[in-house]
Amino acid sequence: MLPDDDTICALATPPGIGGLGVIRVSGPAAFALVDRATWRPNHTPCAGWAGYTLHRADIVHPTGEVIDDVLLAVFHAPRSYTGEDVVEISAHGGPVPLRQILARLMQCGARMARPGEFTQRAFLNGRMDLAQAEAVGDIIAAQTEQAHRLARRQSEGRLSVAVREVREIVLGVLARIEASIDFPEDVGDLDADVCQSDLALAERRVGALLATADQGILYREGLRVVLIGRPNVGKSSLLNALLRADRAIVTPVPGTTRDVIEETLNLRGIPLRAVDTAGLRETSDEVERIGVARTRASLADADIALLILDATAGETEEDAALRADLADRPHVVVWNKWDLKPGADPPAEGIVVSAMTGWNLVALEDALADMALGGRAADTEDTFVTHARHKRALQSALAHLADARRTLGAALPADFVSIDVRGALGALGEITGETAGEDVISEIFSRFCIGK
Ligand code: GDP
Repeated sequence: MLPDDDTICALATPPGIGGLGVIRVSGPAAFALVDRATWRPNHTPCAGWAGYTLHRADIVHPTGEVIDDVLLAVFHAPRSYTGEDVVEISAHGGPVPLRQILARLMQCGARMARPGEFTQRAFLNGRMDLAQAEAVGDIIAAQTEQAHRLARRQSEGRLSVAVREVREIVLGVLARIEASIDFPEDVGDLDADVCQSDLALAERRVGALLATADQGILYREGLRVVLIGRPNVGKSSLLNALLRADRAIVTPVPGTTRDVIEETLNLRGIPLRAVDTAGLRETSDEVERIGVARTRASLADADIALLILDATAGETEEDAALRADLADRPHVVVWNKWDLKPGADPPAEGIVVSAMTGWNLVALEDALADMALGGRAADTEDTFVTHARHKRALQSALAHLADARRTLGAALPADFVSIDVRGALGALGEITGETAGEDVISEIFSRFCIGK
């Protein structure tokens, strides 16, 4: 897959009002095109400027009327983000000047970039591999510092290096197999023991990476927690109390309905999406019935349910029914309003809290983090697998490696082993992009926004 050879432009900063708006131009005609759209004090063409330098210019209409005075940052291929000639135009951050600048650039021959096209070009021009390109999106979308840290490491190439090291080992095995097929007189029979131990080493390395995947994906994608309980047990109060206790509220996602309210909080580095529901009660009232249907739906895609009970009321029949509903899914029982039960013995199951005073919310957060992380705190120095796509590729590589060892052990012809080994190489290459199909690549970049 090759990048298109036209020149693209897009707004790289968020649309709206800001101190600056930055427009990126990338492609073989970037310099000529910006020359045409601008008036510059010394009239030297952009192509003559050194890379990584800044220059004043006016973006002008063909009539000579100035659209905006801007700064141009110049990057020569291949030493640019995309690997092509790039000009970054820092303009005044208002929608009207920015729109006019983009229109002028297109008049001069640029095309509006597709979502993720700058990063896609960077990948296709070899400036970064596929896992690193995905990490660019993750850095921008990170909701907690931990998610951001993992994304940064992936963008630095930690995962890619780990995957490439495994590929090297497997490639060595493949080379030995092929040599034994092609030049049996020179290299003699295949040394199955060496191949076995190399394949086992590759399997261990892949296994170690896979062991980080569930946590890594959790840090990147977040945890969905749904609050369930009868009316007035304190669901909204608890959600608000958790938000108040949260030192780093990230993106409050406005609720789509009055019945289901969703907020994002930072649970020990895990982006936690908490959904407050209208309660799971059976009801004859039509409006509430809709709310209950929504609750069931949010329960269906929740990772963990919090069943909130009113400690002053004890467990009612309705509570017991809710608890039965939750029996076969991960859940935590929370006894709220414990401030009204001074000196009482805590119940056998569940966590006692007071949403009103904030008392013991830390224990609730501990319980959630424990459930989410399976009791293992993340070792922040590890290389993490953070994408389901990478996890699937590693699982496939692992299966191929195991097949290869079995085939080798069964003393089947070397050709057969070679097929399994190539399968493993293909799966590993999907992570870094060497063997990823065009459809996979297009799908990944289409999820980026324009200008990225
Ligand atoms: P929801 O219907 O489950 O969302 O319940 P709310 O959060 O609206 O709370 C119902 C009532 O219980 C409100 O009057 C709250 O002030 C009160 N409440 C909630 N949590 C506590 C608590 O921990 N202690 C006490 N004393 N009152 C609480």
